[in-house]
Amino acid sequence: MDQRRLVPRTDAVLADPDLTAAAARLGRRIVKDAVTAAQRRARAGQIPPGAVAAEALRALPPHAAALRPVLNATGVLLHTNLGRAPWSAAARDAAAAAAGCADVEYDLATGRRGPRGAGALAALRAACPPARAAQVVNNNAAALVLAATALAAGREIVVSRGEMVEIGDGFRLPDLLASTGARLREVGTTNRTTAADYAAAIGPDTGFVLKVHPSNFRVVGFTAEAAVADLASLPVPLVADIGSGLLAPDPALPGEPDAATALSAGADLVTASGDKLLGGPQAGLLLGDPAVVDRLRRHPLYRALRVDKTTLAALEATLTGPTPPVTRMLHAAAGDLRARAETLAGDLAAHGVDARAVDCTAAVGGGGAPGVALPSSAVALPARHEAALRSHRVIGRVEDGRLLLDLRSVDPADDAALRSAVLASLEGP
Ligand SMILES: *Cc1c(COP(=O)(O)O)cnc(C)c1O
Repeated sequence: MDQRRLVPRTDAVLADPDLTAAAARLGRRIVKDAVTAAQRRARAGQIPPGAVAAEALRALPPHAAALRPVLNATGVLLHTNLGRAPWSAAARDAAAAAAGCADVEYDLATGRRGPRGAGALAALRAACPPARAAQVVNNNAAALVLAATALAAGREIVVSRGEMVEIGDGFRLPDLLASTGARLREVGTTNRTTAADYAAAIGPDTGFVLKVHPSNFRVVGFTAEAAVADLASLPVPLVADIGSGLLAPDPALPGEPDAATALSAGADLVTASGDKLLGGPQAGLLLGDPAVVDRLRRHPLYRALRVDKTTLAALEATLTGPTPPVTRMLHAAAGDLRARAETLAGDLAAHGVDARAVDCTAAVGGGGAPGVALPSSAVALPARHEAALRSHRVIGRVEDGRLLLDLRSVDPADDAALRSAVLASLEGP
């Protein structure tokens, strides 16, 4: 008997009540694609013809988007390829609630138009009192583009040669700034730049002085850097790109700049990311002097860079809600990580897995705290498990021939899911 003749037709399979319900949730195209793939497997003799509907249901994605959630066990807290900061539950709830119609630019008390994102901006100012004004754009790159365009188009941005950095994936800050029509005036040398170098370069053509945090490398040895406070008295605006989005100093990260300190030291404007150490959604924060922030807000380009209502909601909840996951991961006690690794490894070993608890070193990553080594613990597995675990959406790191599942970048609430994924991965993809 020709198997192909027994494979049910697409319409007949789509009439299955579970697949009809899935089509109502995910859209017909995704379900039809899953059915087509299952029919192909049946024709190839890989599954019985009667199992087409069940196979299609099994293969359906959980959401109507190709993006899939993953467990970040790399030990890199802010992994740009894995979406940087995981949102807090409060941020997820707030964003979901704002996803429908919401009063993003509407005053419910008067029935008139209201200021956009007022809640998020107030939360930013409250979390960073030296910032007397705040605005939010799409990301830190957008914040820098807006500042360069509004304050220095056709003029000069004075910046240290040691701070002309590449952030990652070919994103070079000097190229980004030059694309706005501003000219870069480099001062100092790769390893040494003094306040006098900046002062000598300033003239009628200067738009602003820019200080950039070289967030993914360190210069050591014979070095000199002018601090924000050393540049505050220059007669031009001072913009500080702190990168990571720390609003106040964090004792766990000495040397990592923060917005409050930079503003108190005399910066007129601080730019930062929302999805790095702040632990929130992708966003570019503009914090500082009301006159400068207002100038950026009124520039026509602002309209092209502004954020969505869900971003505003998630950012506000990140700032006002419970401590975000990234901050908890950063401050997790090494002893607690070790205890979790031992529990997990012991449990897996009891299931016959070659698993051991080991101590290791995690990193902040994602453009923050270069050179800061975070003591951590991991479950070590044979490296050959890497691909199987990846197919179960668990990403670890291979080190010295072993696969490490580093628990500093895993929310303790996900330990059970990590355990299930390892056990399931032993059975195949
Ligand atoms: C990460 C980073 C940027 C880019 O920020 P995005 O939010 O990714 O656009 C710019 N400057 C510095 C110093 C950074 O660390």
